[in-house]
Amino acid sequence: MIRIFFSLLLLVSAIFANTIERNRWKSGETFLIFLQNHNLPTRELYYNLDKDDQRLTEEMRSGIHYQISRNDDHSIDQILLALNDELQIHIYKQKNSYKFEAIPIISTTKEEVFSSKVISSPAYTIIKETGSKKLAQIFVSSFQNSLNFKNGIRKGDKIVMIYNQKYRLGRPFSMPTLKVAMIEMHHKKHFIYLNSDDRYYNEKARKVEGFLLARPVRGARISSYFTKRRWHPILHKWKAHLGIDFAARRGTPVMAAGSGTIIWSQRMGSYGNLVKIRHSDGYETRYAHLKAFRRGIHRGKHVKKGQVIGYVGTTGRSTGPHLHFELRKHGRAINPLKVVQITTRKLSGKAKKSFLKLQKQYNKQVEAALDSNSTFVKQTPIQDVCYLKHTPKGNHE
Ligand SMILES: [Zn+2]
Repeated sequence: MIRIFFSLLLLVSAIFANTIERNRWKSGETFLIFLQNHNLPTRELYYNLDKDDQRLTEEMRSGIHYQISRNDDHSIDQILLALNDELQIHIYKQKNSYKFEAIPIISTTKEEVFSSKVISSPAYTIIKETGSKKLAQIFVSSFQNSLNFKNGIRKGDKIVMIYNQKYRLGRPFSMPTLKVAMIEMHHKKHFIYLNSDDRYYNEKARKVEGFLLARPVRGARISSYFTKRRWHPILHKWKAHLGIDFAARRGTPVMAAGSGTIIWSQRMGSYGNLVKIRHSDGYETRYAHLKAFRRGIHRGKHVKKGQVIGYVGTTGRSTGPHLHFELRKHGRAINPLKVVQITTRKLSGKAKKSFLKLQKQYNKQVEAALDSNSTFVKQTPIQDVCYLKHTPKGNHE
């Protein structure tokens, strides 16, 4: 069964005769304040929620678009709050009470190819041709540790990008996922490829260097991956896991994944003992459920990549000793495995063979893009229209 709650603004207004307000989340506003400001019941919509759902409500950040649909008598009928590009909070009226649920945002993904000759800088070229700052950002950051664009680029050098773009209601939204980036400098082609292990490699099958350690705990096993939404088969509800869990023995040292400044080192709700480190370029890492902090790890202290900051434990809402590790950019949780990682390890054996196969396919696409003089259709990204299919509880797609 598919129900469409919100479609295009006009459609909804026409069909349901409800009024829709679109707003942006204010800086410093918490979910509780939001409920109070709208005269919504805090008991049903916050205090009675389980810890996971409460934690989701903490993901609201300034600037996020949300929509309120009102009945004729001006009372609130529904609210949609997008938590990320996959999951949203849905508050709705049922009889005389309000309900809370986390539901998926439906989108489709398209593979797109962009190819152009450099006008002045790659970033300028990409923005001018596609209108997308996000694409420019991805391209520049993928090469930032291996190439120097400032001295190496000449007008007319070629660039190609193959990436996945999400669409909602026919419009692009969210961060594109880079699959291949190519730049030709001094007649030499440089590549970055997304491998099937979700990591980036260069044309020599070497992992690309970045600013983060691959693992903040040595020898730890990943027990839970990052996901913006997943269906919990036992609880029958949608959840998110905005970090990576590393299972390790209690007391195992935890290292700073990158150099930066400690901005938090104390308890914080379900995180338990938590360390937060602020890095450059708006990045922040979080290390939760620690047994203890390393001596001297205080707010304001500068730490180097690889420096021990605490020890694995199970404080806060945790079922056993593990490190819950998060990476955020400008407050938004991102998948640490998708960020270009540091290591000089080279692929070998079977893994290399499968990479080379993938590389061959990608290179064909890059060559085709270089040969064709295809024009890129500019799209205006919009973030504020929510479209969803409702998956009833227990009937997961
Ligand atoms: Zn976790």
